Amino acid sequence: MYIDSHAHLADDSVIGDVENILKRAQEKGVEKIVNICTGVVSLERGLELAKKVSWVYNTAATTPHDVEKEGDLFFPIVTKAAKGKQLVAIGETGLDYHYEHSNRQVQKKFLSKYFELAKETKLPLIFHCREAFGDLFEMADAEYKGLNAVLHCFTGTLEEAKQCLDRGWYISFSGIVSFKKSEQLREVAAYVPIERMFIETDTPYLAPQAHRGKMNEPSYIEETAKALALVKNIPVSELAHQTLLNASKFFSFPKVL
Ligand SMILES: [Zn+2]
Repeated sequence: MYIDSHAHLADDSVIGDVENILKRAQEKGVEKIVNICTGVVSLERGLELAKKVSWVYNTAATTPHDVEKEGDLFFPIVTKAAKGKQLVAIGETGLDYHYEHSNRQVQKKFLSKYFELAKETKLPLIFHCREAFGDLFEMADAEYKGLNAVLHCFTGTLEEAKQCLDRGWYISFSGIVSFKKSEQLREVAAYVPIERMFIETDTPYLAPQAHRGKMNEPSYIEETAKALALVKNIPVSELAHQTLLNASKFFSFPKVL
């Protein structure tokens, strides 16, 4: 009944034990996982995994952190996979001015390239954005107007969330929404209609409150669903079902329940 719309299963810390991790996810009712591939090895592992596990789907792009180092190398490989129908979305791409591991201009250049690729292949985009919403909105309005996207691991303000919704985008909540200190984010979640919500773990990062300090994994998605269901004052099953429907539509999964 759950979809984990954003996990990094090819991460070194996950892949070695991936069979057990997937088994635990299944036991908790996770029926789909979107695996975010961030580099050459990561995509190879993701494609290999999707061959074996029918409910794992891949996306790919260089993260804004790494575009300066690896962006040029990976872009043609992402293009080939996207055109070869091996991906359900392009991403995560975007802008990160909080860490600014890559130069801002280089981040923008690659965001533009991924806009083009998404348009060309008719795939939706997964955005990573930190402290850079102004530039993201400006660029998207100029180059990606009216097209499909989700803000992964949203941690912005209510105003920024409204602006995402105005553009027709989805907003994805991670385990951060369950953290004790995340009052502001829960206010954002209270505002976002459940028809526009995704849930994700961002495995192996950001384990939810109940598992804090541990490595995150898709089976923990229920904690995020519980936290959001509480905010929305609806049963967890309803939250799970609606977010599964939303993501299934977004990623064009063959069978929508
Ligand atoms: Zn991620």
